[in-house]
Amino acid sequence: VSPPDTLVHAIRAAVAHTPDRTALAYFDGRLSYREIDALSDSVAGHLAAGGLERGDRVAVLLQNSPQFVVALLGAWKAGATVVPVNPMYKSAEVRHVLDDAAVVALVCSDRAWDSYLRETAADSSVRLVLTACELDLQTRNDTRVLNFERLPAAAGTADLVDVARQGHPAPGGRDLGPADIALISYTSGTSGTPKGATNTHGNIMYNAERQRTGLGLPESPVYFAMAPLFHITGMVCQLAACLNSRGTLVLAYRFEPGVVLDAFTEHAPHYTVGPSTAFMALAAHPAVTPGHFASFTVISSGGAPLPPALVEKFRAGFGPYIRNGYGLTECTAPCASVPPSREAPVDPVSGTLAVGVPGPDTVVRIVDDLGQEVPFGEQGEIVVRGPQVVPGYWHRPEATAETFPDGELRTGDIGFMDADGWLYVVDRKKDMINASGFKVWPREVEDVLYTHPAVREAAVVGVPDGYRGETVKAYISLRPGAEEDPDALAAYCKERLAAYKYPREVEILPDLPKTASGKILRRELRSRSHESQ
Ligand code: ATP
Repeated sequence: VSPPDTLVHAIRAAVAHTPDRTALAYFDGRLSYREIDALSDSVAGHLAAGGLERGDRVAVLLQNSPQFVVALLGAWKAGATVVPVNPMYKSAEVRHVLDDAAVVALVCSDRAWDSYLRETAADSSVRLVLTACELDLQTRNDTRVLNFERLPAAAGTADLVDVARQGHPAPGGRDLGPADIALISYTSGTSGTPKGATNTHGNIMYNAERQRTGLGLPESPVYFAMAPLFHITGMVCQLAACLNSRGTLVLAYRFEPGVVLDAFTEHAPHYTVGPSTAFMALAAHPAVTPGHFASFTVISSGGAPLPPALVEKFRAGFGPYIRNGYGLTECTAPCASVPPSREAPVDPVSGTLAVGVPGPDTVVRIVDDLGQEVPFGEQGEIVVRGPQVVPGYWHRPEATAETFPDGELRTGDIGFMDADGWLYVVDRKKDMINASGFKVWPREVEDVLYTHPAVREAAVVGVPDGYRGETVKAYISLRPGAEEDPDALAAYCKERLAAYKYPREVEILPDLPKTASGKILRRELRSRSHESQ
């Protein structure tokens, strides 16, 4: 069965069959499929009446809220391409995106508009602004927000919720198809300036449909949105996959372990996906019990390395097995994952957990520097071809030609494939540490650190060293209440790793720096260690 052309088509079909089913649950508020369809029609009508044309870019800079979903669907109904923007971005980062994508309309919270976006967007291509009152976690009993009611708009803008309630008809003749660009997704920038990957509606619906048919979830599943919706994992594996399955998407503004656990109890979700750091935070919460996970059919980790020790600790402590999945913004979230009927093997030599097997219609190859395929078990760069791979980067022909030669995605990740078809990600090519000519992959050292009971988070980077060129340094954050000496942690690794691999330096920090999507930022730790040299 082929998927609907776009998520808008999927929602219209849901309205025809199950109009009153809850599409979104947000603390005490609920919106049905009929309601999100009508609200987003009205946003589309407003945007079109304001001069927005087919193919124009609409930036959405919001936390996980019903407003995000209504703005997204409204923009697509108006024929626009959506640019999801990380709400934690600082002014200069937002301005880069507004200029790079030549954004015409902006949807953001009224607080962000008043505090910095009004200035950020001045003299830019932005002509239409919709603001939305968003939830503050501290004031989440504010019923005005939960009931999706109108609040006064900031001067010079229209209020999103007000517009959504006005009942404008959606403009006709703007239906988009699978080949149209749905999103310009800026990569999280862990390795440099963010570039805009152009995810088509076909890319998104392929992965959404794979999830609907391949995860063994019940009919009309309840999804909990743990990953941020502006990031491709949240957008595709939560929002698109859930609404394409006519399920209920539970939103909780942003990741906050206590709030997430309460939502698990209240909504009994069947599925969630997040980066491994989110599971570490849940496991470390004082109130967590196995009962919090009783309703889940599947739990997935995606978008960042998953240490095997975490999978085991989680299973032993709370029951569920965390399923690994591998993907990039450039392949619209997953291209390989662990099927529900199987468990991922751990490579006996490196101790790496497999990320999964490639999906149907997806070809994953491991190639050497000359682009030649290497035998099973040998390391090389992971390259991907499949229906989820984007056509390229927005307005960057050179970067597109380099990263997508012949339509195949060069991931920049080093990995290997075993004879049974399991894919393993060793690390990012750029993160390799060269210690006296020996290759050290940070992941392998981090995986060892994660087996230590006191370690909550670990990140390993190369730091300049007069003698070795580079040496291995580990940054650690400890579990609540745990105490450990940096030298003892170094000694722990020394017992378990070859002499050139164990960290010569260990530094303990209260928390490790992360992207808003929860990935540990090795780049920031590297510059920190360079500064202290
Ligand atoms: P930028 O491209 O700007 O540096 P980013 O790569 O962090 O940002 P994403 O597209 O979100 O942006 O991340 C994709 C990367 O995340 C992959 O290339 C890979 O390095 C890592 N990754 C994703 N899933 C896994 C996994 N299961 N195991 C190990 N690494 C993973």
